[in-house]
Amino acid sequence: MRVRFKNCKINRQQVCGYQQGNLIVINLMKGNILNTYIHEVLHYRHPDWSHKQVYRETAKRMRKLTCQQKLCLYRRMFCPRR
Ligand SMILES: [Zn+2]
Repeated sequence: MRVRFKNCKINRQQVCGYQQGNLIVINLMKGNILNTYIHEVLHYRHPDWSHKQVYRETAKRMRKLTCQQKLCLYRRMFCPRR
């Protein structure tokens, strides 16, 4: 999985990010980037899930994650395995 960051509007829209194949693009100018990362990874892993399902699952995970788990996810987001 590749992760790219943008520091501006994506496709002229104020979206937090999107996922396309194994590419995840995260807008650094909007929202919580960890939340966006989890959201887009869930879209990648569960292409059959609706946006609403992904949204709910993301919120659930964000609430349950420990500080250490969040740090691990940040590491994975910024230094994904090649
Ligand atoms: Zn979505």
